[in-house]
Amino acid sequence: MDLILIIAIILLGPLLLASTLRLALRVGRHCSRKAYIWLLYHVVYPRILPGDMHLVNPSRAEILLLLLHWSITGFFNAYDIHSRTEFSRRAGQIAVLHMLPLLASQPLSLLADILGMSLHTLLYGHTVFGVMAALQGVLHAIFSPKVALTARSSKAMALTLLIALLLLAFLPVVKSRVYEIFLRTHVLFSIALAVTTWIHIGNEVILKRSLLVAYAMCIASGLWRTCYTVRSNIHFRTSRITSVSDVIDGKLATILELQLPRDLHFKPGQYVYITLVKRRSTCRTEDARQIPSKQLELCVVRMLQCVRWAVQRHPFVITWWQDSMHKSSTERMYVAIGQQHGWTREVTAASTELNSAYAWLDGPYGHNIRFEEYGAVLFFATGAGIFAVQPYLKGLTRLIQAGRAKIRRLTIVWVTDVLTEKVPEWMETLLHDSYIERDASLPLLRIAIHQLDKAGKSIEKCGARLIVHKNTQPNIDEYLQEQVNHGRTTAVAFSVHARLRFEIRDKILGGKSRIFRLFALSYQPHNADFDYRLDQSKHACKRSRVAVWAILYWQCCVINRFHGIYCKLCKQAGLGVLYPSCEEAEGIVANALLRDCATGP
Ligand SMILES: Cc1cc2nc3c(=O)[nH]c(=O)nc-3n(C[C@H](O)[C@H](O)[C@H](O)COP(=O)(O)OP(=O)(O)OC[C@H]3O[C@@H](n4cnc5c(N)ncnc54)[C@H](O)[C@@H]3O)c2cc1C
Repeated sequence: MDLILIIAIILLGPLLLASTLRLALRVGRHCSRKAYIWLLYHVVYPRILPGDMHLVNPSRAEILLLLLHWSITGFFNAYDIHSRTEFSRRAGQIAVLHMLPLLASQPLSLLADILGMSLHTLLYGHTVFGVMAALQGVLHAIFSPKVALTARSSKAMALTLLIALLLLAFLPVVKSRVYEIFLRTHVLFSIALAVTTWIHIGNEVILKRSLLVAYAMCIASGLWRTCYTVRSNIHFRTSRITSVSDVIDGKLATILELQLPRDLHFKPGQYVYITLVKRRSTCRTEDARQIPSKQLELCVVRMLQCVRWAVQRHPFVITWWQDSMHKSSTERMYVAIGQQHGWTREVTAASTELNSAYAWLDGPYGHNIRFEEYGAVLFFATGAGIFAVQPYLKGLTRLIQAGRAKIRRLTIVWVTDVLTEKVPEWMETLLHDSYIERDASLPLLRIAIHQLDKAGKSIEKCGARLIVHKNTQPNIDEYLQEQVNHGRTTAVAFSVHARLRFEIRDKILGGKSRIFRLFALSYQPHNADFDYRLDQSKHACKRSRVAVWAILYWQCCVINRFHGIYCKLCKQAGLGVLYPSCEEAEGIVANALLRDCATGP
C-alpha cells in the first residue's frame, strides 16, 4: 500500500474523529439539541474511572479516540504483511510516522492555540502519539531480521533509537516529581532520537522527506517564537525590558506586578511562561559581611540559584492587567505564583529580592472561553484557583457593560483557607462597577466566599452581592439547584482541587437537569497545597483505605530513614525539587492517614 496513504490514515484517523466529534457537537447544538446534550453527558463529560484519586482518568471521548487510533495502527501493522522482515519494516515506518507530529508540533502551547484546543487536550494527544511511537519502535527492533556483522553500526543505531523511545515513553512518570529533570532529558532524548532516526532510516525517501519537513517546521516555529518573545520583552528604541515592578506577598500566592516594555493586549484565559532573572546586586550577600568564607559560600549558592532560575520557565495565568475603557492594551500585568516544591518555593522565599528583577515572558498563550454566550455562569475556585477565574470576571464585566453579553446571573464560589489582600481589592473594583447592577432586585453578580480557617460557623453578608460563609463547606447541590430554578443554560467553570472537581462533575452528571455545560479552566490547583476538608457525614472512613495509607506511611518512613543523608545533601545543594520527594511524602501520607481515621467508619 502507498506509504502516503498510511501516513494520511494513521495521522488523520483520530484527528478526523476528533473533528467529527467537534463538528457533531457544533451542528448538534444548533440542529438537534437532544443529540448534542446526549453527546456531552454520555461521551464528553464522564470519566472512565470513578473517584478522584487517579493520576490519569481520561474521558470516554478520549478513550474512544484512543481505541480508534490503536485499531487503525494495528490494522496497518498486519495489512499485506507476509514475512517477519516486512512486519519489522512496517512497524519502523509507523514509528517514524508517529514521530513526525511530535517533532513538528513545537511549542505545544502555540499549536494548541492554532488548533483551538486546550493545552491539556494537546498534551494528551502528544502522550498518545509518543507511546505509540515507542511501542512501534520496540516491535521494529524485536522483529528485525538478524543483521550481518558488517552492519554493526546500524544495529547500534537501532538500539540507541529503541532506548531513546523507551525513555521518552516512561519519563512522564517522573514528571510530577522532578519536572525540570524530566523536561531537560525529554528535550535531549528528542534531539538524539531525531538524529539517530535520520541515520537509521537509510534509503526510505518518503520518510526522509517527511522528517525533513518536520525538522524544518520545528526550527521555523522555534525561530519565529524566539523573534516574537524578543520583540515583546525588549523595546530596543527605549532600551526597556520586561521587569518586576512590584511584589505582593500573600499567604495564598506571591503576586508579581510586571512592567512590560510595550503595550500588549490580553484576553481572559491566557497564560505566559515566565523566566525570572535577578539583578546582579541581589545576588550579593549583606548579612555575612564579617565572615568572608561564609559570604563566599552564600554568594556561590545565590549565583547558582540565579543560573538555575535563568534556565527555567513556568506557566502562569495572567490574573489581572491594568487597562482603561479607552484602551484595551496594557503595559502592566499581574501573575500569582502559588507555592509548590521547586522554583515557586524559591521565588516565594526570595520575594523581597524580586523587586526590579528582569522577567522574560513567552506568550501569551491560551484561548478565551466565550462565557458571554450563556444565560448564567457559575465559577468554582479553591485556593489559588481564584487567580484563573479573575480574568474571566474582569472580561465578562466589561462585556456586560458594553451590552455584549447574554449573562443574567454570574456566581462565583471561592473556597479558601486564607484571603489574600489583592483578591478582595480586585473584586471590589468589580463589585463597585455600578453598571453590573442593572436590576436592583436581581443581583447579577454574586460572590460567595467559603473561608475555612475561621472557628465557628457563621454567615456574613457584605452588601447585596458578597456573602462570606465562615467555616462552612460549599453545598454544590444548593448552588446547582439555584441555577436550575432560574432555568437558564449555565456554564459551570472550575479551577479547583481534584476532589471538588470530581464532586462537581458527579453532581452535574447525576442530576436530572441538563442545563449545565462544564468547562475546566487552564489552571487547576494541586491537591497538596490546600486542605479541602471532607464533609464527614458523606465520606465515611473505609478500612481498606486506611490500611493502604498505613502501608504507604510505613514505606515512606523506611525510605526516609535510608535517604536521610540524600535529603540533607539535596537541601544543602539547594535542590528543592528533589528534596520534598523524601521528606514531604511522609508528611502528606501521614496527614491523609490521620484525616481518614478522623472521619471514622
Ligand atoms: C496553563 C497553566 C497555568 C498555570 N497558572 C498558574 C497560576 O496562575 N498560579 C499558580 O500558582 N500556578 C499556576 N500553574 C501551575 C504552575 O505552573 C506550577 O505550579 C509551577 O510551574 C510549579 O513549579 P515548581 O518548580 O515549584 O514545581 P514542582 O514542585 O517541581 O512541581 C509541582 C507540579 O508542577 C508541575 N510543573 C513544574 N514545573 C512545571 C512547568 N515548567 N510547566 C508545567 N508544569 C510544571 C509538575 O509537573 C508538578 O505537578 C499553571 C500551570 C499551567 C499548566
